[in-house]
Amino acid sequence: MLIVMEHSATADQVRAVQEAVEAMGLQAAPIPGRERTAIGVLGNQGYVDDTTIRNLAGVRECIHVSKPYKLVSRDFHPDSTIVAIGDLRIGDGMPPVVIAGPCSIETPEQMQSAARMVKAAGANVLRGGAFKPRTGPHSFQGLGEKGLKYLRQAGDENGLPVITEVMRIEQLEAVCRYADILQVGARNMQNFDLLKEVGKTGHPVLLKRGMSATLEEFLAAAEYIVAEGNNRVILCERGIRTFERATRNTLDLSVVPLIREMSHLPIIVDPSHATGRRSLVPAMSKAALVAGAHGIMVEVHPDPARALCDGAQSLDGGGFDQLMDQVRGLMNYLGH
Ligand code: PEP
Ligand code: MN
Repeated sequence: MLIVMEHSATADQVRAVQEAVEAMGLQAAPIPGRERTAIGVLGNQGYVDDTTIRNLAGVRECIHVSKPYKLVSRDFHPDSTIVAIGDLRIGDGMPPVVIAGPCSIETPEQMQSAARMVKAAGANVLRGGAFKPRTGPHSFQGLGEKGLKYLRQAGDENGLPVITEVMRIEQLEAVCRYADILQVGARNMQNFDLLKEVGKTGHPVLLKRGMSATLEEFLAAAEYIVAEGNNRVILCERGIRTFERATRNTLDLSVVPLIREMSHLPIIVDPSHATGRRSLVPAMSKAALVAGAHGIMVEVHPDPARALCDGAQSLDGGGFDQLMDQVRGLMNYLGH
């Protein structure tokens, strides 16, 4: 961190800042300038909380040189992390993973049929939500633990690992019992208590970017999980909220290559929640893979018109078959 003093700061004020830095167990290195004095802070392992310093007399601003994350950064860990789930490997150098299934688990038959169709088309992981974060309280909230059973059963019968969202710490035990991958949704990206508990489980985690989270906040959220000793984290870009209303969200594809530069964790893309429109899902799935995503997560429903959640952005069996054909063609072209 660099502390920039006011033009008018007195020698006493500079000294007080130095003492405050030293009281935090860090070293202060004053850098006198013609216009103003700056104080370099040395010896910190990561981000320094600047609350005390910022409020001292004579301080103009604190400039952070180090980031609020470290364990997830490539500087700290240059080798790419490959997340293993059974025989499946997600990350650099591996064929892109395809996670597919309905937004929410509705009935055993719906899950069976979804599992059969995504497996036949070549998906690697089955998705389905049992605990649903809905915008309004009158919408279908998910089947809860009953849904987890249907998901697990459909996955087992079709040889697919399963992923489902956990919204609260109290659901964690049940979700870990049934799911191979825990999903932390966009709305919970900064539920720090949940992130810590998810970190303690050691279970693979798919962390979705919050809809108004900066990249730095996204990586800092992943840091919470890794800081608990769980590095089996897969990041997921799912679109952010912008002024544009023609699509449900705005898919921020540029973060894919950027995250690959900045972090060693795998990054996948969810084109379904990003666009909200079925017709856009194939194009954005392919764009994500060309941008370097380690996989995609796509909503697929046996009967999208009757889906209890997110039907408009869900592909049906035929649509998903076509998408998978295109994805295979693209993988060949990309040399996977
Ligand atoms: C989901 O994947 O079902 C979901 C709710 O997505 P998000 O958290 O990205 O809105
Ligand atoms: Mn959904």
